[in-house]
Amino acid sequence: MTAIARRGVCLVISAPSGAGKSTIANALRASEPMLTHSVSVTTRQPRPGEREGVHYHFRSLEEFRVMADTGELLEWAEVFGRGYGTPRAPVEAALSSGRDMVFDIDWQGHRLLRAALPNDVVSLFVLPPSLQELERRLHTRASDDPAEINRRMDAALDEMSHWAEFDHVIVNEELDRAVIEARSILTAARLRTTRQHGLAEIVSSYHVPNP
Ligand code: 5GP
Repeated sequence: MTAIARRGVCLVISAPSGAGKSTIANALRASEPMLTHSVSVTTRQPRPGEREGVHYHFRSLEEFRVMADTGELLEWAEVFGRGYGTPRAPVEAALSSGRDMVFDIDWQGHRLLRAALPNDVVSLFVLPPSLQELERRLHTRASDDPAEINRRMDAALDEMSHWAEFDHVIVNEELDRAVIEARSILTAARLRTTRQHGLAEIVSSYHVPNP
């Protein structure tokens, strides 16, 4: 059977930092070459290794505010005092041409994106297997400055308090399994009846009677 015309899916993945969200998103993209990452705009400085247009579009606060005011951002929020937002044009182009997008945004972004695109968002929250494990992961990735670890832990708990707002939840105990689960969620979203508008024409050519 040939590929059926369908609208793309917006797969939103949120998690506290340290739960493995980026690793899962990267593994998904590696196995699904047509999956596009939504590159957010941010007013924060690039971290070492981060590239303009790949990890983020780095903009001044003034430029960010103009984008927000002129409707160029589908959603935007302030996180840790910095602006973060999702550019509208690439998302609209991808969805209408049937390409799926993955969004690495926080719970606020999820709420706003869902309100902006109510029929397109499928969301996934990634939980760590335990609080001890999250703390251990935060220690290995950040400086061991206790104040910094505490700040990250508080932010993680705040993010986790929103887990029940998401369509799906994965406990990331074992990465391979979490990636399989995330792929299953994407596959199921692609196959939703309402998304496969191209099927109506094909089925009507089968002369199927109306129910
Ligand atoms: P970081 O500065 O560590 O890259 O990201 C900080 C937080 O901002 C993360 O929770 C990330 O998911 C969130 N974030 C990144 N891009 C966006 C965006 O476009 N919109 C929203 N609402 N949050 C974002």
